Amino acid sequence: MTTTCIGKYSRSHLAERLLHLDGAPFSLKDYPFFYTIYNTDAQETLLKTARQVSKTCVETTACLLESGDTKEISKIQVGERIVSLGVDGATLLSAPVTWKSPRYQKPCVRITTRLGLVLEAGLEHPIRCWDRWVPAGKLTIGTRIASVRQGGRFTGTSRVLTQRSNDDCDTLPSECHSSIHQIHERHSPEYPLTYTKLAKYVEHFRGNEEYNQSLVEELALHLERRDIYWDRVVSIEKIGKQWCYDISVKDTESFVAEGIVTHNSTYCANLMIIDSIRIPHFKTLYLTPTKEQTSKFSNTRLTKTIHYSPHIRKNYIDTTLPNNVLLQVLKNGSLMVLSYAMDDPDRVRGNTSDRNLVDEVQDIHYEAVIPVVKECAAVSKYAYMDYCGTPKSMENTIEYLWGRSSRSEWVMKCEGCSSHQFIDSARSIGKHGVICIKCGKRLNVREGFWYDFAKDTRIKGFHVSQPMLPVNNEYQERWDRILDKLETYSESKFKNEVLGVSDAIGTRFISQDELLAMCHDYCIPESPPLDPEQVEECRFVTGGVDWSGGGSEYVSRTVAWVFGYTGDGRYRTLYYKIFPSDNPIANVEEVAKIFNACRCDIVVGDAGEGAVANSHLMRALGAHRMFQVQYGSFLKLLKWNKKDRYLVDRTAAIDSFMLVLKHQGCIYPNEAQMRLPFLDMLAEYEESTMTGQGGVSRKVWRHAPSTPDDCLHAQVFAWLAMKIARQDLELYDAN
Ligand SMILES: [Zn+2]
Repeated sequence: MTTTCIGKYSRSHLAERLLHLDGAPFSLKDYPFFYTIYNTDAQETLLKTARQVSKTCVETTACLLESGDTKEISKIQVGERIVSLGVDGATLLSAPVTWKSPRYQKPCVRITTRLGLVLEAGLEHPIRCWDRWVPAGKLTIGTRIASVRQGGRFTGTSRVLTQRSNDDCDTLPSECHSSIHQIHERHSPEYPLTYTKLAKYVEHFRGNEEYNQSLVEELALHLERRDIYWDRVVSIEKIGKQWCYDISVKDTESFVAEGIVTHNSTYCANLMIIDSIRIPHFKTLYLTPTKEQTSKFSNTRLTKTIHYSPHIRKNYIDTTLPNNVLLQVLKNGSLMVLSYAMDDPDRVRGNTSDRNLVDEVQDIHYEAVIPVVKECAAVSKYAYMDYCGTPKSMENTIEYLWGRSSRSEWVMKCEGCSSHQFIDSARSIGKHGVICIKCGKRLNVREGFWYDFAKDTRIKGFHVSQPMLPVNNEYQERWDRILDKLETYSESKFKNEVLGVSDAIGTRFISQDELLAMCHDYCIPESPPLDPEQVEECRFVTGGVDWSGGGSEYVSRTVAWVFGYTGDGRYRTLYYKIFPSDNPIANVEEVAKIFNACRCDIVVGDAGEGAVANSHLMRALGAHRMFQVQYGSFLKLLKWNKKDRYLVDRTAAIDSFMLVLKHQGCIYPNEAQMRLPFLDMLAEYEESTMTGQGGVSRKVWRHAPSTPDDCLHAQVFAWLAMKIARQDLELYDAN
């Protein structure tokens, strides 16, 4: 295919012709529903998918525990942490087992290595080779495979190694030679390359500035990754059916032929590459919540697909340039910028792009991040916006987008009763595959079409579940996993992870009853001045203002709140006002008037939306009693940036204020006056989000983008103002 005619073909056609994935030409044959998704001409798309992955081990397999001990897989329990190889195939990680199947029989192979390691595993069990994962049943003799050096065991799946490794066998695969070649053409090391020799090469290359030093550092990485041992397969025997367990391990999901999550990131990578070669000077901005997720995507999907697709590598890549995890530049001028943002969009701001691709969108804070991302494509004639993710609760970003999308489902016609249906509940799960919910006959998931349940929407939303994957319907052992999850998972977990349907709502920390219990029989005036009796017992009076997002598509208002700190350490609401959804500048004058009339000692304004409004307010109130606070994700929970604002960890600030509420630490006016503010406060719910750092999950506070929460934040700011007034900068740290 010549580069000049590429613009004529559809994306799916180009992807299947030009891209290689894990060593083979990419194909959509087993994912028939993806053709439409690749070729949609919608400007905004949403891909809502299920998450499910696992690997199969023979029951006597020894797992390496975090402690360094080993334990047979039959005795491992969900929640226990085991050591395994990360998706990059180069790092070890310790992560909890999240699911374990019942014991069952399946055909297995026994693999023996040069060092005498013996591995018995199911045919599909992924084994790490130099640059890709290969199913155990497809390994060939002579292949170098990764094993874990620590304790001398395979990656969590081997029997105990009794032999000590000797240095002759401890060599790097021949693929390492090409890296050396790239740095200096004339150097071709004698085979085999040992770690000792590699160290000498690295030392030599580092001593001469003429060599490409980033390639040298890449090579040097292999010296550091000495917990991986490249052993060689010497025999493979079929050992028939063995008793096995399937397990899932958190964060090790990107396996060969496994699961749709891999397909999600494959889709993102392919879309980016195909449009980058179709359209010269095309700019893509790719985003996940965390740096770890973005690096993982770049290393395991994007960079690999580019470099292992011969046509792309040959015609579009300048191989003399060092590889950059967060930037890909093609010879036709197209750019792919990779970034990350969970709550704070600052890293993204100011980019320009033609396509924004937001992955793992369920963990991204909609109002804080998405408008800034969209702004990046404001001047593009394409301005594509794509979202991918897995549902969690009914209230988060992905459900918000789904609700505003075409809500397209993969619809199949039943040959028994001629009815049309799609999969959104466990009723479609039969003994051997997807069934008709009316007559119980098997449905053919390959013969479906996308049907839009909402018309004329800007966002085209596709829902992809596990049961609709042909491979799950065509192999009983794969379907059995779905059946087992149906039995062992809670209903909402099954819906989320297997069906890709949102179910449970997030946890609320405070109840309506608890809020109502803080209401007292007093009124706040329509406008200041305040009732002197209310102010009398207060030692400090502070104000907080949450500025409206102004003109944005979600509901957001400017709210001003005034607290008085009482003798017994409670926060009395002396006054509040909710302004209509408007540009914050329009309200600055009145907000200033309120805080002045209430004689506030200190006022705090939100720096996120209100930099301009804050500077106006500061002029009106005086710099000595007005401070800006910027929400973010910070290690220190509350600190002055030594310039113009306090930096506050958002989760910690909301946690701390919620604790005040939990202990009935506020005094509110009568119920009628608190109706609206309480709705805002009840909109906030807790959710866990992956930060990716060692697979630790972190708590965050979210609200449905369609429900405002400004009254809560205005109170948090007024309460922070009180902390500043009292020079008490400690916050409660939940994480
Ligand atoms: Zn039927």
